[in-house]
Amino acid sequence: MKSKGPFAKRSLGQNFLVDQDVIEKILGALDPTRNDIILEIGPGRGALTEKLIETAAKVYALEFDRDLAPLLREKFAKHENFSLIEGDALKVDFGSLDRGDRKLRLIANLPYNISTAILQRLFSSTDIIEDCVLMFQREVVERITAAPATSDRGFLSVLAQAYFNVDRLFDVPPSAFRPSPKVWSSVVRCVPRSDLVFDHSQLEPIVSRSFSQRRKTIFNNLKQWYSDAEELLSNAGIDPKRRAETLTIDEWICLAAASKATL
Ligand code: SAM
Repeated sequence: MKSKGPFAKRSLGQNFLVDQDVIEKILGALDPTRNDIILEIGPGRGALTEKLIETAAKVYALEFDRDLAPLLREKFAKHENFSLIEGDALKVDFGSLDRGDRKLRLIANLPYNISTAILQRLFSSTDIIEDCVLMFQREVVERITAAPATSDRGFLSVLAQAYFNVDRLFDVPPSAFRPSPKVWSSVVRCVPRSDLVFDHSQLEPIVSRSFSQRRKTIFNNLKQWYSDAEELLSNAGIDPKRRAETLTIDEWICLAAASKATL
């Protein structure tokens, strides 16, 4: 395929959006205003970036592929509200971006190979995030949004739903991208939750340990890690015979609090 700019790199999850209706829909989901501070992860050839800049919001575009930097500069450097950051979304400190007293609004058609790793990084930045509109592979969104007692419920569902209110917005077909991926994508809106209080350092280990073997009960998973696993579950009001995928977010938070108390 002939395209403007360097060839797409599969290793960097480069599937560029070409469908203008989908681009408008993603932009509409964020609905930026001129006072916003926006971080776009992986601007690629600038399909979303261009529209973001038009809104007069401050736009930080964080791109790992140095071959794309000249193209992005050529297109957008003349706009004062645009800043290109050449870096890795898994390493850049989002808190270091100049944003005055405002929080960041995130937008991304995420590189699929590291999309869940990027999402997990956002869990520790919820205090500086206003909201995010993110595109993932559809099966990842099914995991992120899975309800208790469903087959997709796992570590990522629990963590994502503890840190964010997650809304699945719409699906995007492979034909919206060049090159076309093999699978469908989905767009979600994630807004940091302010209604839950929990110790972040306790939640992640207990969820991960509870899901270590899906077919086992939560007690059988936790007893490998906690000598008092039975008491821990009883303190959190959780039947030891249940499986991890059946717990609600409120129950996970009780369990995290109980695990802290037993240390
Ligand atoms: N936003 C563009 C679009 O929608 O057409 C490109 C999306 S493409 C799916 C993902 C983009 O993320 C690519 O431009 C890729 O180079 C970039 N990327 C890959 N790994 C990255 C990383 N670790 N940090 C920042 N950007 C990355």
